[in-house]
Amino acid sequence: MRVVFLSGGTGTPKLLMGFKEVFPEEKISVIVNTAEDVWVSGNRVCPDIDSVIYALSGKIDEGKWWGVKGDTFTTHTALKSMGFDEKLMIGDMDRATHIFRSELLRKGLSLTEATERLCRAFMIRAEVLPMTEDDVSTWILTPEGEMHFQEFWVEKRGEPEVLDVIVKNMDSAEPTERVKKSIKRADAVIIGPSNPVTSIGPILELNGIKKMLREKFVVAVSPFIGDKPFSGPAGKFMHARGLKPDVHGLKKFYGDTVNIFVIHNEEDLSSPDTVKANIIMKSRADMIALAEKIAEIIRDA
Ligand code: GDP
Repeated sequence: MRVVFLSGGTGTPKLLMGFKEVFPEEKISVIVNTAEDVWVSGNRVCPDIDSVIYALSGKIDEGKWWGVKGDTFTTHTALKSMGFDEKLMIGDMDRATHIFRSELLRKGLSLTEATERLCRAFMIRAEVLPMTEDDVSTWILTPEGEMHFQEFWVEKRGEPEVLDVIVKNMDSAEPTERVKKSIKRADAVIIGPSNPVTSIGPILELNGIKKMLREKFVVAVSPFIGDKPFSGPAGKFMHARGLKPDVHGLKKFYGDTVNIFVIHNEEDLSSPDTVKANIIMKSRADMIALAEKIAEIIRDA
């Protein structure tokens, strides 16, 4: 049996940490959002790919859910003292990942190849796949104007009102051959509890992906508890798309691509396409229990 995950950068990496404990890691492929990727201080930062790599290698900072556990910020601080205001807080070990990736990209390797090399360096057996080689980027329209996702979320701390979410260059973006192959040979696809609009949306919008998913057994794990996301700005983005940040909004957003929605066990809803579980992952035991439940759903399908 093989599974494919669709992933953003916080909720799904947590679930992956549990899933690799209950399922053979080498049978897992992870298709990762690249629409939040950005150049910082000369290096290519892929926030969602980095989080997946750090989570699968057990190196993620489990306090922040980004960056490397125990990282230092010497270079970031030194730059600041020179008057260079680096917009993202990049840790020293995290920066090493970005330098390694960027050097490979400058040598002409694709992002897929560079990610594969990184996975080898981090001794990851799962297949981690950037969703596309095309340059797509997420922009947030606010009353102050349009800003890159990272500017909205990191610099402005997600505070401005969100009028619209625009993923640039999405119309012409193609999934990679490896992405298509991973879905074709999968027995099931798991849409992790990530930001539906900015993390999973861009993957679903890639040419042909929705059609491929309709032919598969797809399980989606909700990132919403009641009428709020567990964390982060997903609520504002759902509202901007005219949807509520709850299970009903999620169902509308994913539509007919999903067979089973895994929702929180306290939700006041039961329908043939929902399964209830504790979807709040605070401990390693929570991650494993939720992963176990999903593995069960897939095996019974
Ligand atoms: P982003 O790239 O930072 O937007 O990260 P993601 O795409 O991974 O989105 C973060 C989403 O993960 C938010 O909508 C959270 O609600 C969700 N999330 C984070 N932790 C958990 C958790 O423990 N359980 C569930 N169900 N969702 C979570």
